Amino acid sequence: MSRKFKVRFAPALPVQDNCQLPPQPRVQLQEHRRSRSGCRDCRRRHVKCDETFPVCLRCQKRGTPCQAVQPPPKRWEMEVPSLFSSNITKTRSTKHTSLLHHWCQRASQIMVLDPDLNPFSFALVQYFDSSPSLLHTVLSISAGHQHFFQTDGLGTCLEERSVALAHLRQEIDTLTETDHIKAFMCIFMLGVSTPWIDEQQCQFGREHLTGARTLINLIIASPTFADNTEAKHALGTYLYWDMACSFLLEPGQQLPSNNSPEIYTAMQKTVGIFHPIMGYTVELMYLLGNLGRYCRTVVDLGIRDETMEHAFEEQLLAWEPSRENHELGLLADSLKHHGLINLYRICGRPSSGVRDDDVLFEEEDVTTLSDDHLLDTIDDFVTDEIIRQYAIRTVQDLTAISTTNWHINLQGIPLLTAGSELTAADTEERALVVERFNALYSVNRIPANLLVIELVEELWEARDAGVTFSWLQLMLQKGWRLMLG
Ligand SMILES: [Zn+2]
Ligand SMILES: [Zn+2]
Repeated sequence: MSRKFKVRFAPALPVQDNCQLPPQPRVQLQEHRRSRSGCRDCRRRHVKCDETFPVCLRCQKRGTPCQAVQPPPKRWEMEVPSLFSSNITKTRSTKHTSLLHHWCQRASQIMVLDPDLNPFSFALVQYFDSSPSLLHTVLSISAGHQHFFQTDGLGTCLEERSVALAHLRQEIDTLTETDHIKAFMCIFMLGVSTPWIDEQQCQFGREHLTGARTLINLIIASPTFADNTEAKHALGTYLYWDMACSFLLEPGQQLPSNNSPEIYTAMQKTVGIFHPIMGYTVELMYLLGNLGRYCRTVVDLGIRDETMEHAFEEQLLAWEPSRENHELGLLADSLKHHGLINLYRICGRPSSGVRDDDVLFEEEDVTTLSDDHLLDTIDDFVTDEIIRQYAIRTVQDLTAISTTNWHINLQGIPLLTAGSELTAADTEERALVVERFNALYSVNRIPANLLVIELVEELWEARDAGVTFSWLQLMLQKGWRLMLG
């Protein structure tokens, strides 16, 4: 990671002279207002809120989303931001300045694993003068984030978004090679934020994904790709986004070149490089993207390819995450298990039929059973049990990561997959799933986190009544296209 992305968030420090943060009295006023108000739920219940960030202690206990309407506590203040001395804020209104402030401090942090290594925060500021589309995209998402993407507060968010799109249309015609990366960043942010403001939950920014793919093809074709960290980050970001959308694209909408050799070769050049959104999981993301598309095809068309399923299973089982950082390791394990669970639930377990599961059947003598039907039943039972073990472990791993750690940002997708497989016997884990989705909502404010609770609860109810199906089937049935990334 290039050092210019390094921005440190330090415990309450005095505002420095060279930093044009709002003057001291205003900060104190906010502090005072904050201590009077607390989070939305505590105010509604007329109880004192301790204002722990990101989930207050009462909300933690209640397992409800924590919607703090005031700025974050002092410890999230910036140390040395160059933002407020840039040309942008000199010519902008107070409203824009405060939205940029909110963006750098809070809203941009929901996309990365480490606020100190965030290319979407201060590092974007350098592009604002030359790319109005990027500036207005940031203003739009920041405004949406401030209001928890709730319809009553979306005015500025939607206004800025349409300004951003208008600028983007103009800029796209005159892009030079050096503009590709910032145009990609802009389209990525417009794309991922599409579902956050769609009340019907049926949009996920497909046209943006397609546009981004065109730019990625240009970026990886550049002779400087191998030496360009930002270009590699862009590819990783695309692969992450592609993975998150892979279940959402109808088989007919999928790009024919999703598995292009060029993408694969370029991806290989980024292995081992820390990516701000997904750490060291780029190969896994690539694999999960392909698996997601395959699973969607199986659900929609019922067409199976056993060789491919074997290959998916083999590659997933063989993939081992980096253990450099404990939380990153847990997260990566969870994503791997998310892949295996979906493969087993939606397609079946390719290695079933290979009878090495006797350990699970110590009471029974499997070798004496000759009835194929019975063997199939046993296979199904074993597969269900394997899925459940992965699910329990994944929920435990993910919830072992503290809500105050930014590594919770990548949890939505594996938490949904694992959570939906918990049985009536896993009451403790089920409660953890609901609690965690509420916490995720408190941090990233993406409404899909709350809808997912509805989704898993419906799946649990069906499962407890003896009907098991995948979260993907139920989501499609409901007409939702939830993007949790
Ligand atoms: Zn509270
Ligand atoms: Zn709260």
